[in-house]
Amino acid sequence: MPSSPHGRGAARGDGSGGGQIVPEGRAVLRGTPVSPGIAVAPAFVFGDILDEIEVRGIDASEVEGETARLRDAITLVKQELLRDAKQVFRDLGQDKADIFLVHSMILEDKSVLDAILDSISSGHINAEAAVAKETKRLAAVLSSSDDRYLRDRAYDVSDIGKRVIERMLGVWAHCPLSQPMILVARELRASDTASMERGRILGFVTELGGTESHAAILARSLGVPAMVGVKGILDRVRTGEIVAMDGGRGVAVVDPTADTRAHYERMREDEARERHELASVLELPSVTRDGTEIALMSNVGSGEEARQAALLGADGIGLLRSEMVFMSAKLFLDEDAQFEVYRGAVEAVAGKPVSIRTLDVGGDKFVGPENPFHEHNPNLGYRSTRVMLDRPDLLLTQFRAILRASAHGPVRVLIPMISSVEELREAKARLEEAKSQLRLKGVAFDEDIKIGAMIEIPSAAMVADRLASECDFLSIGTNDLVQYTLAVDRGSSYVSRLYRPHDPSVLALIARSVEGAASAGKPISLCGEMAGTPAYIPLLIGLGLREFSVSNSRLPRTKKAIRDVDLGLAVPLADEAVAARTAADVGALLGLDGN
Ligand code: PEP
Ligand code: MG
Repeated sequence: MPSSPHGRGAARGDGSGGGQIVPEGRAVLRGTPVSPGIAVAPAFVFGDILDEIEVRGIDASEVEGETARLRDAITLVKQELLRDAKQVFRDLGQDKADIFLVHSMILEDKSVLDAILDSISSGHINAEAAVAKETKRLAAVLSSSDDRYLRDRAYDVSDIGKRVIERMLGVWAHCPLSQPMILVARELRASDTASMERGRILGFVTELGGTESHAAILARSLGVPAMVGVKGILDRVRTGEIVAMDGGRGVAVVDPTADTRAHYERMREDEARERHELASVLELPSVTRDGTEIALMSNVGSGEEARQAALLGADGIGLLRSEMVFMSAKLFLDEDAQFEVYRGAVEAVAGKPVSIRTLDVGGDKFVGPENPFHEHNPNLGYRSTRVMLDRPDLLLTQFRAILRASAHGPVRVLIPMISSVEELREAKARLEEAKSQLRLKGVAFDEDIKIGAMIEIPSAAMVADRLASECDFLSIGTNDLVQYTLAVDRGSSYVSRLYRPHDPSVLALIARSVEGAASAGKPISLCGEMAGTPAYIPLLIGLGLREFSVSNSRLPRTKKAIRDVDLGLAVPLADEAVAARTAADVGALLGLDGN
């Protein structure tokens, strides 16, 4: 290993992360790339939370609520520990899994729990402060012990205390952010990404997480470089150390050498220049070489993103993820507050269509910091429209807000996670109910508002013709369609290599959905991240799609890809891809790296 300007052995990458040079630094780590871009900045390592908790006095009426928050967080951490223990046992054996059992035992220790509960009920302090106090006390006792085993347990106690607090607060609660930083964390949840301060985080590096988790999608839509599945990162970097990262290749260099740092800085400048050049394509029409028009819309999660979409020349908003609005606000907004956001989006794109999707919570998205339903398999559980049909109060509130926005411009209602015609019918009936409520009050709305179903579950793709005949449009959500077709959790780093949108089975379901919509004479769009990957554009156009919706940061590349398509070549390409035997064969056809 060559000596480095740091005067110590330097870790070297394999060269692919740095272009022409081999990246060098104290550690060169690799992970799954999820959002392209270069960042060089100090790291903020999520995890030093115990000293930063705000102690808040509470009165007697708050004790019950604080105790419930504590118990919920403990239940969640127990579930996570069990999951981690099983995984580590499978991968590394019982020895390594024992640590999780130790952590579970700490969580189950009655004297510790009683002390925390006592701080809440008698000490009258908030739950997280009570956990921090007891954790620090116990860790201090253990670390002053003569017994080496007990001294070692001090670390475990702190670790578990932090985890419980993190579950109560979310990741940003203790992030100092005095300057822009690269966030290093075990895992980022969608709620953490949604509530982050824009412009202050230059990149994400996490130990866990999958390419199509909502945290990853948000990172892409914010144009923030991100990589996931970086094993051991938390032990390799400290807060304040410089990290140079390449989110497009999945390389992070901790404490880079002067040469490597300069190289990454140059890459960042080149990238900014390239982005600038690419931006000129936005002024050109979205049309293939042979003149086929393709509508190119934007996926947004806030009024601000809708305004950006308008500036970038999007043909409208193909997907407004309403849950992102609620997640940023950390609560379910009332009708008026929702209406303001939706109207803002509608006015931002002035006359172009806006598809507002009803709340899609569950899976990896929650309005609070955690999943309130405590399911073992939340993606197959109480999620999205299943929740909303059970909660007519929430659904009617949201429908009324959307309907009111439809008086200000062309609005479409999009229903997520439809798995059957019955669910669509039920949602439509609720929409009619919301219309009647507004009519009674004399409130204006578009009587002909269009309603569409998302195709993101294989069952919906199989009956797309019947769904299309009972609604006004379809929109394919490949992020979930891939997950549910291949049984690959979109948020898991362990199976992310199996998450392949170009698997022939997925293509068959997309083709079937396009045919289903055509047979009913209804339009169909595709709003999953697949459309934001330029290599898939010829294939998707060849399959018959004529409308895409992608995040703002992907608009230029997607438009360029559309303008490069020749329908005469795209159609046979799609035929060949659908008939292929393996995802690798399709990958080779499309020229995908590593297939
Ligand atoms: C999808 O599943 O492809 C989609 C667009 O919805 P989301 O990513 O929000 O689940
Ligand atoms: Mg989805």
